[in-house]
Amino acid sequence: MDKKPYVLPQLGFGYKDLEPYISQEQLQLHHQKHHAAYVNGANAILETLEKNRREGIDGDIKALSKAFSFNAAGHLLHSLFWENLSPPIKEGRPPQGFIAKAIDDEFGSFERFRKEFSQAAIGVEGSGWATLVFCRHTQRPLLMQVEKHNTNVIPMFRVLLVLDVWEHAYYLDYKNDRAKFVEGFWNIVNWATVDLRLEAILK
Ligand code: MN
Repeated sequence: MDKKPYVLPQLGFGYKDLEPYISQEQLQLHHQKHHAAYVNGANAILETLEKNRREGIDGDIKALSKAFSFNAAGHLLHSLFWENLSPPIKEGRPPQGFIAKAIDDEFGSFERFRKEFSQAAIGVEGSGWATLVFCRHTQRPLLMQVEKHNTNVIPMFRVLLVLDVWEHAYYLDYKNDRAKFVEGFWNIVNWATVDLRLEAILK
């Protein structure tokens, strides 16, 4: 098998296209600096592991595997995040299809889901993410907070929707007002992508 490095993905929209909810400067910095750092970090750790194996050096496996989990999960979550964003449209973009039904069945209404997801995002202590995941065992969409990029993650759960609430995601635009950033997020959710993710799991 050909080994491939992790690669920073292109965004499906321009840096200006999420304004006024995420500014060009904020988005560019987040994508080109922060996300890129996780891609480079994950690749560097894999190179270190290979070098250690080649040269017969033990290395600090505990530290390396922890750092790998942090960087690789950071890369994955950011990739999922960009894909579940889209430029705002005036009428708003309520979910449709499988995801709309799944949300109604679990939360009772879209408004109730939005409120709970927002609370999960606003309530993250320090750096982390709010996620809507799908549990294949219970067949239910569930909310999960993720600390940093990789703490509290249960791999069996598939990710439907993520929101980055690290300060680096919003500080230029909103300073410390995370709640306002979370409120703006609802204008730029790409529900079609979220629906496709769920459809792929249900098939
Ligand atoms: Mn981020």
